[in-house]
Amino acid sequence: MDIIDVIKDKQAGKNLSREELDLAFNGYIKGSVANYQMAALLMAICINGMSDEEVFDLTDLFINSGEVLDLSSIPGVKVDKHSTGGVGDKVTLIVGPIVASCGVPFAKMCGRGLGHTGGTIDKLESIPGFNVSLKPEEFINQIKNIGIAITSQTGDLTPMDKEIYSLRDATGTANSVPLIASSVMSKKIASGADKIIIDITLGSGALIQDREEAEHLSELMKKIGEKYNREVRTIISDMDTPLGHNIGNALEIIEAMEVLQGKSHGYILEVCRDIASELLTMGKNISKEDALSLVDDSIANGTAYQKFLQLVKYQHGRIEEVKVSNKTKKIKSNVSGILKKIDSYKIGVISGKLGAGRRSLEDALDYGAGVKLEKELGEEVKVGDTLCTLYVGSNSTFNDDDVDVMEAFVIK
Ligand code: URA
Repeated sequence: MDIIDVIKDKQAGKNLSREELDLAFNGYIKGSVANYQMAALLMAICINGMSDEEVFDLTDLFINSGEVLDLSSIPGVKVDKHSTGGVGDKVTLIVGPIVASCGVPFAKMCGRGLGHTGGTIDKLESIPGFNVSLKPEEFINQIKNIGIAITSQTGDLTPMDKEIYSLRDATGTANSVPLIASSVMSKKIASGADKIIIDITLGSGALIQDREEAEHLSELMKKIGEKYNREVRTIISDMDTPLGHNIGNALEIIEAMEVLQGKSHGYILEVCRDIASELLTMGKNISKEDALSLVDDSIANGTAYQKFLQLVKYQHGRIEEVKVSNKTKKIKSNVSGILKKIDSYKIGVISGKLGAGRRSLEDALDYGAGVKLEKELGEEVKVGDTLCTLYVGSNSTFNDDDVDVMEAFVIK
């Protein structure tokens, strides 16, 4: 058996054995399988799918490609959350401090943004000085000391996923349900939390656009959790519209602080309350109702916001130095009517072009770049009203002649 047989088997829609998966994926990491061969296999998986057994085997290979963190020295039930990605998704920055301020340890490893979606690590790096590279012992000690730590995926944790994820992004295979399930769940199992909530984003700005696929992904993730004795819950959230008003790294830090200070409402607060309260029901074994009132209290009495500031300080961030680009451009409406839609994908692409996102992992970001939405869905718009403000980064490739920002807004 060689890699060509494995590719052909998947191309023919057959289930791959553990040995075949091992040959392909470990071969890729070790260099005996070429980029183009793995790309062909990923595309065959994308088209023909995988059985549950194949997904379990692949997840196991990802987990065993690196270190598995042991958080058992931290007292209490450790919780974690993960989102399958989106535009304006700053939920981790809000939910983590809420949960930790309510006494449940929050242990979170995050990734960077790629394509039109943002990544929590880039957002945290927009805070000057913030250390996103905690060593495993620093990560554990910080959770013991302040109840929360957020760090990037260390080189030793699921390195196979890291390699495969970049290739998926570059080969149009990022949206495969079995590949997402293995990628996300391997990281969650390896980073050690006992109870996990996955936010499956659905809509134009997300990887998944079909509700049935989102439901399938949800079932698969729960089954993987069971295999490793971890409780996994999922929510399916809307990503047709960007989450919140601000899209772009520093802009999202600012909005996260506004939500934590009780200054922001609407769908973003709803999603954060839902996820934070689910985590508290898991961590404290309390009812959803009690958990929701703890969440609301932590915002109202300022403890969640104080926990955020403590997290930033502990990881050497200087929050007072966060800044957005001073080169701005207002986009005014040329029609009037009711704002029916703000296309998440289009806004994500525009924000990326302004300098907030990268096309490849090597690209540098301008943390101050992005988009601020100035109107809510359902609001009346008149000709000349500002729909959004663009924050233009020093590395911007945005060009008015190529991109009509108005196309991201449906007004009728
Ligand atoms: N997030 C991940 O970590 N992996 C995926 O495959 C998709 C979203």
